[in-house]
Amino acid sequence: MESQKQFKRRFSFEFFPPKTDQGREKLQGVRDRLAEVDPDFFSVTFGAGGSTRDRTIETVLNLHGQGISTAPHLSCVGGTRETIAELLDIYRESGVNRIVALRGDMPSGMGAAGELRYANELVEFIREYSGDTFNLEVAAYPEFHPQARNAEEDLQNFERKVKAGANSAITQYFFNADSYFYFIDRLEKLGITIPVVPGIMPIVNFSSLVRFSDMCGAEIPRWIRKQLEAYGDDSESIKKFGEEVVTDMCERLLTAGAPGLHFYTLNQADASLKIWNNLGLANRDKISF
Ligand code: FAD
Repeated sequence: MESQKQFKRRFSFEFFPPKTDQGREKLQGVRDRLAEVDPDFFSVTFGAGGSTRDRTIETVLNLHGQGISTAPHLSCVGGTRETIAELLDIYRESGVNRIVALRGDMPSGMGAAGELRYANELVEFIREYSGDTFNLEVAAYPEFHPQARNAEEDLQNFERKVKAGANSAITQYFFNADSYFYFIDRLEKLGITIPVVPGIMPIVNFSSLVRFSDMCGAEIPRWIRKQLEAYGDDSESIKKFGEEVVTDMCERLLTAGAPGLHFYTLNQADASLKIWNNLGLANRDKISF
């Protein structure tokens, strides 16, 4: 973990672009509560295959205009160099200076990939087209990407993204801190020393967590799954247990030198804020981890 300790810690919250006026209003409230803890940035997802393009732009520009730097996620699957360049122009002209660059997934039923096949090609294209305008974040998978042929190739593919010009990475969520430590260890052996910020998924609902985790290849350790199952419909106990488990893991990560945390908020403030407060991050410049 030595490589990670040199970086200034940064904390961020991820949203998805709302579909309805009610969703927009709700996100505004969530944004206002999270803005109070002064995160380094917000990020906004880009629906599979670009399906939320306009809503992502609208949400990013709205949040960015309210004073906290906001990073759009941008995926290349289903896009062309031209459509991606259009997005880069919009973001550059609006003063956005960070992008989460991804391959993305196609919505089910939709066929062809785009002109750029993998995230390393997208990073390369953004660097070619926009130089150093954007700080580029890429995805990292401590438990390995579900489509990777093997762990070794997944690491080599991650390395390609770094060589193409990624500045830092955000991980897929995980509940086993050791997978993150091992991943960093492997990166260090390859000489890769960019910040790799753990992505944190607060636990609020068992069935949606299982559905999500199956889709993205994140493992829910058996002891957590069994305990959550045992709570049945008791959502208060699920949230309380989830809060404890995730807080403990975050504390371990930060103590070991993780360069910050990125919260997958699912457009809810409570769960992330509870973990934030448990960790004492309000005074983050003063705490020892
Ligand atoms: P890549 O890095 O391109 O990797 C994809 C797969 O291809 C991996 O298995 C890799 O090993 C393999 N691979 C990579 N390069 C090569 C190569 N040159 N040759 C052969 N194989 C290769 N999805 C969305 O649709 N919208 C979002 O907003 C979004 N946000 C995300 C944010 C974070 C922090 C994370 C971790 C994921 C996010 N995702 C999002 C999900 C992501 O798009 C999927 O996991 C997708 O399947 C892979 O994207 P990637 O950028 O990691 O792809």
